[in-house]
Amino acid sequence: AERGLSRIGLAGLAVMGQNLALNIAEKGFPISVYNRSNNKVDETIERAKAEGSLPLKGYYDPREFVESIAKPRAIIILVKAGAPVDQTIATLSEFLEPGDCIIDGGNEWYENTERRAELVKAKGLHYLGMGVSGGEEGARRGPSMMPGGTLEAYKYIEDIVTKVAAQVDDGPCVTYIGPGGAGNFVKMVHNGIEYGDMQLISEAYDVLKSVGGLSNRELHETFTEWNRGELESFLIEITADIFGVQDEQGEGELVDKILDKTGMKGTGKWTVQQAAELSIAVPTIAASLDSRFLSGLKEERVAAASAFKQYGVGDILAQKDIDKKQLIDDVRKALYASKICSYAQGMNLIRAKGMEKSWNLNLGEISRIWKGGCIIRAKFLDRIKAAYDRDSNIASLLLDPDFAKEMVERQGAWRRVVTLAIGVGISTPGMSASLAYFDSYRRQRLPANLLQAQRDYFGAHTYERIDKDGAFHTEWYKIS
Ligand code: NAP
Repeated sequence: AERGLSRIGLAGLAVMGQNLALNIAEKGFPISVYNRSNNKVDETIERAKAEGSLPLKGYYDPREFVESIAKPRAIIILVKAGAPVDQTIATLSEFLEPGDCIIDGGNEWYENTERRAELVKAKGLHYLGMGVSGGEEGARRGPSMMPGGTLEAYKYIEDIVTKVAAQVDDGPCVTYIGPGGAGNFVKMVHNGIEYGDMQLISEAYDVLKSVGGLSNRELHETFTEWNRGELESFLIEITADIFGVQDEQGEGELVDKILDKTGMKGTGKWTVQQAAELSIAVPTIAASLDSRFLSGLKEERVAAASAFKQYGVGDILAQKDIDKKQLIDDVRKALYASKICSYAQGMNLIRAKGMEKSWNLNLGEISRIWKGGCIIRAKFLDRIKAAYDRDSNIASLLLDPDFAKEMVERQGAWRRVVTLAIGVGISTPGMSASLAYFDSYRRQRLPANLLQAQRDYFGAHTYERIDKDGAFHTEWYKIS
């Protein structure tokens, strides 16, 4: 590189950009940073100074920013997904030269990445869509990154991202995912799986609290304990922490003061939409999305609760005596089994898209780079990687001998938890969806024969027979 020039640039200095830039600088790669509004540039420079004179230079002017980077240039963009990315590309590409490379690190819709890659290709620019997971802390200390585009473009940043990513026992949490929008697609499904994990944990909490009567203190202890076993993961760990945090503005723990209404930014919805497009069942992820929609109807739910109270239906229906210890153990197993089903759904969605687009995805590698840095990082991802290493073409994770055995060992507990919840009128949409998925998947004969008969009856859609080849139609109404 030319003297004094930066190795890389980063535009967009909100939560993710600022922290990723500091991480890159800390790993010894001189970096130039830029943001549309000046204040975030100043903030980033201040932090770089405070954290020990990191090799970071800030720019207010896009031209000076671009010209401060060694050629061929690599610039990561971390702005709000959608139009802001187009605007940022337009601003920067005015000063970029053929051979330079743009890397969008946002949660972008994969088709936008494919469109932009084509657009900038006309100017001789390279393009990557690179999902980054891990939130603020991950970006600063080591995220999981999912870069997609040409392999040639990946080579621009390989040395940097492999150092900046979270490091696990079998390497950095980054790998070249595949062409086009593959990186964004995989990041999207990662987020869908994250929706599932969070919903399943919330249901475990609900059953333990509302049915088992556990206090926040006991919940804290339970999740802390779970984090030492097969459920060990970032989300279980932060959940344990959450139960221990006091409300600074009043009595008791903060978790009880938080409004039960969830926000969302769209990646979960996209995951479910894509699954529907590809005819892949993702019931656990879809149930998680639906649960967020229902949580949003807070006022309506409050009104419905009081309406049903008038008919004598309380919040929780009459319940039997509970053996707390047994319940905690059952819920842990139900959570684990439900989680396996959810990951099986997500991985199958990734595979289906990869086949449709000829992305040549490596599901084992994808599981590996989720082992550290990202929000769904978990001990259990090691097992998923091992399952794909054993058989990369396995139709479903549920069929992996290890997972199959674990599901069978846990199904008693799992059914007890779902049955208990249904009995007392607490919804466990994620756990129930996972269990229904398992039960449908392992069933040799489903009642779809009747459904086919109905379709043929009213629409002459024809049906297949179990004993002969061909398409058959019956004039049902004439016979009946
Ligand atoms: P964000 O809130 O999504 O976006 C704020 C940034 O976008 C600011 O730098 C802002 O610049 C810039 N921006 C907005 N509109 C712009 C426009 N029209 N032209 C130029 N710049 C514009 O930031 P974030 O939370 O750091 O997320 C960045 C990306 O990473 C998003 O795609 C997000 O989904 C993804 N992501 C976020 C997280 C997370 O935990 N936050 C985790 C993983 C991935 P100004 O300062 O000038 O307004």
